[in-house]
Amino acid sequence: MSVLPILIGADHPMLRKKTKPVAKVTKEILKLLKDMQETVKDADGAGIAAPQIGRTERICLALISGKMIPLINPKITAKSKEQETAEEGCLSLPGIAVSIPRSVEITLKYMDAKGKPQERKLRDFDARVVQHEVDHLEGVLIVDYAQNI
Ligand SMILES: [Zn+2]
Repeated sequence: MSVLPILIGADHPMLRKKTKPVAKVTKEILKLLKDMQETVKDADGAGIAAPQIGRTERICLALISGKMIPLINPKITAKSKEQETAEEGCLSLPGIAVSIPRSVEITLKYMDAKGKPQERKLRDFDARVVQHEVDHLEGVLIVDYAQNI
């Protein structure tokens, strides 16, 4: 396992790319998940997405119920109308905090590290972290929300 360098900057082209779905959990994907796990732990983050370490797979890790969970091909299939605004930071944008309204509850579909499809409902902090990480997979960063205010 290794700690990977995290890409920095709102204009970094890798951070603006849309990711590609993963067809199968290969050895290479498992290694990537381990490296991302170690990287986010080292950086003391609540989540990390593949583009942040220069990869194009639709993969992220998110802190859910206090555990760092690997999410492969995550898709938010439902979002509550009820939103809450809170400040978010990002490992790729050190020193920047943006107040962002996010849905309080979401339904998330993804594939786990064993290649099994999963579906779960998340609330509050868990839902916020996942919405942040899924944004990364679409090339969206927290500063994009600041421009809408
Ligand atoms: Zn981020």
